[in-house]
Amino acid sequence: MNLILLGPPGAGKGTQAKRLQDRFGIAQISTGDMLRAEVAAGSPIGREAKAVMAAGHLVSDDIIIRMLGHRIAQPDCAKGFILDGFPRTVPQAVALDVLLAERHLKLDAVIELKVDDAALVERIAGRFTCAACGAGYHETFQPPHVPGVCDKCGSQSFTHRPDDNRETVKARLDAYHRQTAPILPHYAAQGVLRSVDGMAAIDDVTRQIDAALGVLPPA
Ligand code: ADP
Ligand code: AMP
Repeated sequence: MNLILLGPPGAGKGTQAKRLQDRFGIAQISTGDMLRAEVAAGSPIGREAKAVMAAGHLVSDDIIIRMLGHRIAQPDCAKGFILDGFPRTVPQAVALDVLLAERHLKLDAVIELKVDDAALVERIAGRFTCAACGAGYHETFQPPHVPGVCDKCGSQSFTHRPDDNRETVKARLDAYHRQTAPILPHYAAQGVLRSVDGMAAIDDVTRQIDAALGVLPPA
């Protein structure tokens, strides 16, 4: 199964992508996570992307498309993948069509998570991540069961993304509305676009995605 999760920053793409990965054994591909790894490694891509990401702008299509092309050729993508944060521009969507056609692959669905801008600011301001295993949390909406301890791995060390601040969020939302939302008609025309109410609670969004994919929820 090959899926795209589409939506503004903070819409819940990473949260739902991890659930889909666990349930269907398909690879989660987050271009944001890949870029953060490049920045942490101090690689040439990371050095070029760092300031762009900190400003809340989009990294160049060239870099992203090359990175994605390498990633979907990895063996863990053989059963399928969930794209989280890609494509983000019309040229990226067109390039993905070509990459898929070259591999004789097709998209099963593009799931759009619809969330109001005001809710996104609150979600992003409260987001944090386990420094050891990468599990995602929110101060109000998804806190760890034991405060200060990761549910998944027991680590007590957490990180906040440097771009998760109120000033950068505005630029990131602008980029979404100006550069990413225009790809929705591209997928509507292909007949694969499914929109879900991303304002609902996390478990309910998962149920809506199951329904959109036509799969039964787990027992
Ligand atoms: P994205 O990957 O789209 O940027 P995330 O999955 O990281 O978004 O979610 C952003 C923040 O909002 C996280 O802190 C997450 O715990 C929280 N979150 C995700 N989905 C929901 C939801 N449906 N309701 C409330 N909070 C949510
Ligand atoms: P994300 O983790 O998806 O919120 O992405 C964090 C940042 O990485 C974005 O604000 C962009 O600067 C950059 N980024 C991630 N994915 C892409 C993409 N597909 N195209 C361009 N920039 C991207």
